[in-house]
Amino acid sequence: MCSEAATGVEHVPARCFFPREHRVNLITVPSCSRHNNETSKDDEYARGIIVSALGNNKLAIDHRRDPVRRSYLHSPKLFQNTFQIQKKDAFFHDRDRIDNLMIKIAYALYYHSYRKIWESKPEPYYKQFLFDDGKSDIEVRLPNYETLPKYDIYEGGNKSVFKYHFLEGKINGKNNCLLRMVFYEGFEVLILPKIIPQ
Ligand SMILES: [Zn+2]
Repeated sequence: MCSEAATGVEHVPARCFFPREHRVNLITVPSCSRHNNETSKDDEYARGIIVSALGNNKLAIDHRRDPVRRSYLHSPKLFQNTFQIQKKDAFFHDRDRIDNLMIKIAYALYYHSYRKIWESKPEPYYKQFLFDDGKSDIEVRLPNYETLPKYDIYEGGNKSVFKYHFLEGKINGKNNCLLRMVFYEGFEVLILPKIIPQ
């Protein structure tokens, strides 16, 4: 994310996303002291939202029952912040907070894959986040997403918890790539370099 000297390593995504028996070859990247651990509360916040989303596998449900629920018992404030604004059977989320975390994960995975800093601003799109009318975030903000290339081969040591791939191609006439990430075989985040109008 930055060019500061690394003072440690950080797991990507954070370890808290992974059930104890699914922690094989977790990805780590070098991290400076400012960016390392800066987001641990955001990790827990995003984890609670993601495991609660529709379409996930059973690991997410089990994970929600144990470590996630325990973290809410430990911090009722976290629970309140996560679920305080509800509408029927849905709840609102803090998009900036989730976006910032996903962008950080995107930079880290890019570095892990290409050994250099991603020279674009990654922008996340979500399938499971819905607007009031029930349309998904990605459908509204990226109407042509169905035309993006499909690719079924993913990276990751614990694919049932988290998997990802990069797809390289021309974006805005320049060589770049998109990143697709899937949590718990259901929660999908597409990351595209931000398109700057010319
Ligand atoms: Zn940094």
